Amino acid sequence: MTPTILVVEDEPAIQELIAINLRHAGFLVVRASTAEEADSAIRAALPDLVLLDWMLPGQSGVALAKKLRADERTRELPIIMLTARVHEEDKVQGLEAGADDYVTKPFSPKELVARVRAVLRRRAPHLAGDAVEVGDLSLNPSTHRVQAGGLAIDLGPTEFRLLFFFMTHLERVYTRAQLLDEVWGDHVFIEERTVDVHIRRLRAALESSGHHERVETVRGTGYRFRGA
Ligand code: CA
Repeated sequence: MTPTILVVEDEPAIQELIAINLRHAGFLVVRASTAEEADSAIRAALPDLVLLDWMLPGQSGVALAKKLRADERTRELPIIMLTARVHEEDKVQGLEAGADDYVTKPFSPKELVARVRAVLRRRAPHLAGDAVEVGDLSLNPSTHRVQAGGLAIDLGPTEFRLLFFFMTHLERVYTRAQLLDEVWGDHVFIEERTVDVHIRRLRAALESSGHHERVETVRGTGYRFRGA
């Protein structure tokens, strides 16, 4: 699972420097030069983390951070603020706006990548690449292997991502739109019944191990993955 980082920075040279270093560190990078561009990028697909410049033309980075925190869909989105400002009061303002961390320019690319990793580890531990287990079902995101009771389970790429999402978000009910957003990264152009098709395939693949019973249909709402 490669985490996607949205880089919001209006200075082309800095945007390029950040993008190159993040890509080199193994992240997928989406870029925006204004808060408005960032907004539409997020509306199209949820990134795993936002690197947000404070000073942007038009709407400021702080205003965008506040907006993301106020919206249910993006409330949990990790945000790192980037800024040339060094005053303590600005830092406080940035953190109050909902930023998880704060990096002051000029920064070393190495430090920036380390801060991104640290925030992801804290806020989205399932992206760290460690194997996850539920009962005797185990999934390794690095090797793409799934096993139940020591026996390999074959899954298509979409069923794999769906199972990974479920195993790291146990017991919560998700609507089809939320699953499209979180698993497919696209809640706009894919039909909701696509979710049902892949849920059916996932259940079929898990049936021989009995784990298919964990995938519950919640009538009128969506789906839930049982942890026990
Ligand atoms: Ca700027």
